[in-house]
Amino acid sequence: MSSPTSPPGGGREPAVIRVEPLVTARGVRGPFDYARPAGCDVGAVVEVPFGRQRLRGVVTALAETSEHALKEPLSIDETSLPPSLVELALWMAGDVVSTPARCLDLLLPPADVTERTRLWAAVVPGAIDAGTRLTERQRALLDRLPGWTGDDLPALRRLEARGIVTIEPRAQDRRPDDPAVGAPARPVALNPDQTAAVERLRSAILGAAARRAGAGDAPASVEERLLLHGVTGSGKTEVYLQAAACALEAGRGVVVLVPEIALTPQTVARFRARLGDAVAVLHSGLSRGERRDEWWRLRRGEARVCVGPMSAVLAPLEDVGLVIVDEEHDPAFKHDGDPRYDARRVAAWRARRDGGVLVAGSATPRPESWLALPRISLARRADGRPLPPVELVDVRRCRTVLERTVHQALIDARKAIVLLNRRGWATSLQCADCGHAWQCPNCDVSLVLHGAGGPSAAAAAAPTMAAIGSAGSGVLRCHHCGHREPPPVHCPACRSVSVGRHGLGTEQLAADLPGHVFRLDADVRDRAGVLERFGAAEEGILVGTQMIAKGHDFPDVDLGVVVDADATLRFPDFRSQERTFQLVAQLAGRAGRGGATSGRVLVQTRSPEDASLRLAAAHDAETFLAGELDRRRERGFPPFATLARITCEHEDEARAQAAGEVLRQRLPREATGPLPLFRRQGRFRRTLELRGPHRGPVVAAVRAAVDSIAGSRGARGLVVVVEIDPR
Ligand code: ADP
Ligand code: ZN
Ligand code: ZN
Repeated sequence: MSSPTSPPGGGREPAVIRVEPLVTARGVRGPFDYARPAGCDVGAVVEVPFGRQRLRGVVTALAETSEHALKEPLSIDETSLPPSLVELALWMAGDVVSTPARCLDLLLPPADVTERTRLWAAVVPGAIDAGTRLTERQRALLDRLPGWTGDDLPALRRLEARGIVTIEPRAQDRRPDDPAVGAPARPVALNPDQTAAVERLRSAILGAAARRAGAGDAPASVEERLLLHGVTGSGKTEVYLQAAACALEAGRGVVVLVPEIALTPQTVARFRARLGDAVAVLHSGLSRGERRDEWWRLRRGEARVCVGPMSAVLAPLEDVGLVIVDEEHDPAFKHDGDPRYDARRVAAWRARRDGGVLVAGSATPRPESWLALPRISLARRADGRPLPPVELVDVRRCRTVLERTVHQALIDARKAIVLLNRRGWATSLQCADCGHAWQCPNCDVSLVLHGAGGPSAAAAAAPTMAAIGSAGSGVLRCHHCGHREPPPVHCPACRSVSVGRHGLGTEQLAADLPGHVFRLDADVRDRAGVLERFGAAEEGILVGTQMIAKGHDFPDVDLGVVVDADATLRFPDFRSQERTFQLVAQLAGRAGRGGATSGRVLVQTRSPEDASLRLAAAHDAETFLAGELDRRRERGFPPFATLARITCEHEDEARAQAAGEVLRQRLPREATGPLPLFRRQGRFRRTLELRGPHRGPVVAAVRAAVDSIAGSRGARGLVVVVEIDPR
């Protein structure tokens, strides 16, 4: 296959541009041919006439001639994508059964954002001599020039009138603030394990760079993809930093992916502190202006390192020599909307496309990576301390939320992290007399009680799993569609006032824990702030969902607690063992770092014999992964198979039902489903699954079935969502 950038043979200048419109409306399926204005290349963003409309689109290929009479584009945008990103969009559309338009749209910077201009003042050369009369204040002002003008504009205007300074509007990049975390800016002395890891990465990075440059002495083989398996606290960040510096020195671009920026401010701060202005940050928490300006700094090549979550893998960097995926096991790397891409797969594609090196790092790698990648291991903590002992606490006979020794340990601890993977006050309400359950009117799920106080706290020190009381305060919320309603005063079915609250959530637990409590879950806006305050506190408890277990490095946490390890274990998914292992091992990884404290971790469970829990408690990732891979191989699950999930969604129940049946017929016989109809956000869904040993045929079969149904009668109002290897 020839690259879309290279002009087709013959050496003649291509006269045609192929334009993929950036709209996803039905019936508009590109690419379309237009006459090529001089200098218009692959990646250009253009506006073209289309029937009576104007469409924005991206040039995805050039051609010598076209069979159609060609129109000219109406305009060419100043924005353009590097050719490698155009290739990425086209590949991604095929890889995850999406459209080029949707993928291209993800790669472009926010549109319609004005440039920010500010006033820039400078002293006119030669304007000041011995005879110039200036006040002290004016001299002080001039000493600060050249620079942006602020409050002192009136004073500067007076100097401008005297011909001493010039003031002009200039474009200024909006730069995101640095996360407020102090970090050492200079490289630390590496320990022997880290040194070996950096050496191996350096030779891969330099080897890949030499090969890319076509150097005669380029090594015959280069390790292009590596897994950095380093136990929690082993100093992986330091290894990434030195690897990134090496790639930068070799003149190449670097992408660094982290699971969620608000939860990993330390990682971002360390990259900024070490590599300075070469670092750009891209994430959804930035304003549109900031995102646009950071995008342009990368596009112009002023910034050569992009740090951020998932979407940073789409950075407009050219010649990427290194892609780092930190905490590579994290499910946050999978995109929820269309296209449902996996940032780790895109990371591997980009490294391969540009002849760079991919490094995936984790203490608890995915079975996929364990199987496929050569490993570098960091087996000990950087501070030389042992990993904390983890005890499984059997709560089968326990009638309180916290088992007695766990409760006592929390009272004794100075700083503790407590994991409960359910947010809200109580996850469901049920009438104690007739069993009526409170469901969302739009979705087939229970409503979750939030912001309640009172009744459960009656059992303050030892709340029970279910509490009864008139619900009174708070609000019932649906976690899927956002529906809200006041909590019931009595049961609508039998008018009983005994309403049971089941499934303890983080809010209730936080209210019942002793001492100073910091809560962190998806309902908390300022997550970075909570982490910062907990980090700075002398003592206290950080309680929350899985997000409290992500790569933070607090030196003085002496206790970790998992309140209900069975919650993830019971989850009906082939990844539930893997998730449980990761969650427990990662939580354990937060305890007993640095400082004088020694760590301890307590895991409450009703299945103390479970292998994933026992091996997490033993910090034994190798044995866990070997067993997990055996199990997956036997049962034909990823990484030994590809799984596709296809959901037909319609507001009309019968239409959703019918679409599911049609899809069933168009998919290969081994497809399963449709699974029982369910409702989300007032729409009916039917889901089917297809599993096969090889990715290509699975994706092709799904693509064919979905395309045929999209063009059929009855497709109006139907949304088909495809997810390859769903999380
Ligand atoms: P990981 O990401 O592997 O969990 P971090 O990169 O967060 O670990 O490092 C854990 C702690 O160890 C950090 O506080 C870091 O500054 C420190 N550290 C890393 N390397 C060294 C080293 N060579 N000597 C001393 N401390 C180190
Ligand atoms: Zn009732
Ligand atoms: Zn709902």
